Order: sequence, then C-alpha cells, then structure tokens
Amino acid sequence: MGPDGSVYAMCPGQDYYPPTGLSKFNGQTGTNIGVAAYSRGATEPMMDNQGRLYAGFMAFNGIFYIGSYDTWDSNLNHLSANWMDYTTSRATLMPDGWSTLKLGYLGLGFRGAYYWDLSGSWSSLPSTDNVGKIYIGTPTGVACLNANDGSTKWSFTTGDTITTQPVISNNGLLYAGANSGNIYAFGRPSSRGVLSFPLKSHVPDRDDGYTSSTAPVNSVFDHSMADSNGQYGPYKCDQTVAAFTGLVASHYNPDFVFGCRAGYTVTPDPHGPPISFLPYMTYRGGIDGGSNHLYYDGHTGVDYQASYGTQVFASVTGTVYYPRYMVDVGYSAPAFHVMEIIPDHPGKPNPDYIIYYLHLKTYKGQQQIEVRDRDPLPGCQEYVSLPIPEGQHVQAGCLVAQSGNSAPYFTRSHLHFEVQKVVPPSAVLCQFGARAYAICRDPHILAVQDCVPVDPYGWTGNLVTNSSEIGVADSGDPYQQLTGIASEFLWK
Ligand SMILES: [Zn+2]
Repeated sequence: MGPDGSVYAMCPGQDYYPPTGLSKFNGQTGTNIGVAAYSRGATEPMMDNQGRLYAGFMAFNGIFYIGSYDTWDSNLNHLSANWMDYTTSRATLMPDGWSTLKLGYLGLGFRGAYYWDLSGSWSSLPSTDNVGKIYIGTPTGVACLNANDGSTKWSFTTGDTITTQPVISNNGLLYAGANSGNIYAFGRPSSRGVLSFPLKSHVPDRDDGYTSSTAPVNSVFDHSMADSNGQYGPYKCDQTVAAFTGLVASHYNPDFVFGCRAGYTVTPDPHGPPISFLPYMTYRGGIDGGSNHLYYDGHTGVDYQASYGTQVFASVTGTVYYPRYMVDVGYSAPAFHVMEIIPDHPGKPNPDYIIYYLHLKTYKGQQQIEVRDRDPLPGCQEYVSLPIPEGQHVQAGCLVAQSGNSAPYFTRSHLHFEVQKVVPPSAVLCQFGARAYAICRDPHILAVQDCVPVDPYGWTGNLVTNSSEIGVADSGDPYQQLTGIASEFLWK
C-alpha cells in the first residue's frame, strides 16, 4: 500500500495481452486507477521509501523460462527492467530504504538486486532488520546474514524447515514458522547492563574486539546441574548438559577421561562447526571433544578460549581479591588461581553479584610482571603491573590479569568466567539441597547471604515454543527450578 492509501497489486495473467499485470487501486473504493503494461505478474509488488514499485515475474514459455524484474513510479510509469531476472518472490526492502533483496527461481538461488549474489539453500523469503542483518529460513533452521556482503552472521539449527518469512516484533524478537508446525522465537533478553566483557581476544596482546556474542566459547554454563539423585549439584553428574538456549546434550563421550564431566554430543547434531548460539554466543566445542560437544556436566561458569597469557579485563568496577573460599570449589579456590571482583555497591550492605576469574596466570604471589594494554579505555592505565594487589580498586574495562591454565588438575589454558548472584537464603530452594552449596563464606559478603552461580547469558530455552502453545511458557529454566534463582542476560 502506498502512503496515499493507494493499493498496488500484481494480477497474474495468462498471456502478454491484454495487460493484467501491475494494477493501482483506490484504497477507499477499490476502483482500478491504472494498469501497467505488464502481464503475468508473479510477485507481490514492493514500494520503497521513494515511492518506487518493484515487481517481477517468471514463466515457462514452453521451451525455456523467461522473466523480468521491473521498476515503476507510483503512477505506474515504467522506470527500468531487468530482463531475464527470474524472480519468484516479493522483494524485501533493505535498511537503506531503496535497495532490494529477492529470491530468484530455483537454481539461481538467492540473487539479490543488492550488493551481492549468494547461492544457497533457502526455504523462505528474507526479512531485514534496521541494522543491516538479513534473516532467512533454511531447510534446517534459520540463518542471519550480513546485508553488506551476504556472509553468515549466525545460523540456528531447528531440525525442521523454516517455511515462513521471519518477522521481527517491536520488542526485537524474531519469529519463524516451520513445516513441522513449530513456531520459533529468538531474541536477546533485555540487558541488565552489569558486565563488561572480560576478553578482547583469545590470543595474547591482540585486540579482536571480542564481545559476549563473538568470543569463542569452550564450555557453556550447564542449566541441568543436578547430581545423580536429581538434587542440585554443581560439578556433579546427571549425564546432561543444557545451554541457555535450551539446546541439550545428553550423550556421554567415551573419549574423554574425566569421569562424568565429559563432553556430550549436542542434540540434534549440528551440520558442521561452529555451533551458533544465536544470536549471542559462538560455541567452538569442548576442550578435547571437538566442535560438536557441549561441555560439560555441572559447569558453573563459561569457559572462553584464551591461550596462555591472554589479557583479561575487569567486568565490573570494584575491588580485587584472591579468595580462599568460593562456592562450588570450596576451600580449594587458591588451587584454581581464582581472582574475584566485588563490585562497588554504594548504600547497600552487599553487592548483587560476585565476579570470578579462574585458572589465571597472574595470581597472588606470582612474580610481578608489567603488561601493556595497547588500547586502554579512558581511565585505564596503559601499563599495568600484574597480579593486581589484593584490595586494589579497579575500573570496569581495565586490564586486571592474564589467563592461564592453573588448576588442581590438567587443563588447557582458558578463562573460566563465573558470576554468582548474592541473594537472601529465603530465595534459595532448600528442599533441593541448593543451600548446601550456596552459603557464602566470603569475608566480603555479610553473613546470612547465599551465593548462587548464574548464567550471564540468561535462559532463552523457553522461547522455542510449539505452535499449539503460543503464549504459554514451557517448563522454563531447569536450573531455576533446582535453585530458585533465575539467570538473566547481564552483558552490557
Ligand atoms: Zn570452567
């Protein structure tokens, strides 16, 4: 529909004459105002923000396919034609307001009138958002493409074929329907804006601009953190690993020798690495299990790829300590080379969260080294002496450590990043044994508070909803059911 209320329609015809193609109607009366000399219309017309109309057709003339994709002004004056441009779908307007994106007929693939061509297997019309991303269905899920070059930003395997054009709601959720009857909803939860990302790269002295959504992840936070009796049990064995997306791994990997904490094959199997945790995490696979393993049972943090000596940055503004005790590793915290930051909490007796970094190379008592932050944020020092002295105040985003491989057992170098929520004991579900693990013994937390590890990526698993249950949440975060504590998306 045009801004003046005119309605434009493509009217399929059988022959070239009389023209039954692009028609313009009075939106009030439905009276036909004009018909463009164009027939066999095949696609719905699309109008850009300059009032130009775009539509195309594709037809088989008995010997070969013919087609065209044309442009008119709003009075149906013909502006241009792209002859032999076989087009079978309504074009999608790009964020610039005039470029278009459209699907060609089978064999031509995804041939845009935009900046690039991309062959591939697509099963729906594309949609665009206002920041240069394209969403499109595939025979196995949903893909998000970079509008500038067609490269894949992420893909998500649903296991069925997305057949409807993905739509984006006002609150930023993406919906798409599949031939299985499922409707999928994807979206980033609203951010609490608590945490700066602790890494810029996974290599020492490099700045790859990592964010919480682009940094490669080795191990997810396990939302299925029960022991073999079904009670809450960090680092215990329930043979199941659940990511924040609801993606579940449940198959024991016999190649991994680390007891039940082994890697698990994701279900359903992905169609090649990396597994993309749309739209905010790129999973690269377990430490030893390859790319299709979801590590690991009972894991209370997120393991980011970080080779030995990678620079680590403060996620919050607060005070640095090297704790003797930590909920879920107990009094062996020093063996894990744990650094904690207690966030500033003016006017409140306790902080809302405690931030932990594990396996650090730069740890209390280690030889002092000077490390350069090549691109320090305002207020941060370029040259930092590590380890940071205990009790020193640090600003979010400033260099505070280097990653390492220190642990009581063999580990490859990585950064284990853990967030614990500080809550009153009444918030924790005692009946599942959660309190036994969550009682804080941190001297910087006032008495009678519990500390419960939480997933800084939150929980979005309940957004994948069967069409028969739209509007009804599913059983929700299994971790919350065990502990009483909800995980929220905390990244800035
Ligand atoms: Zn870890």
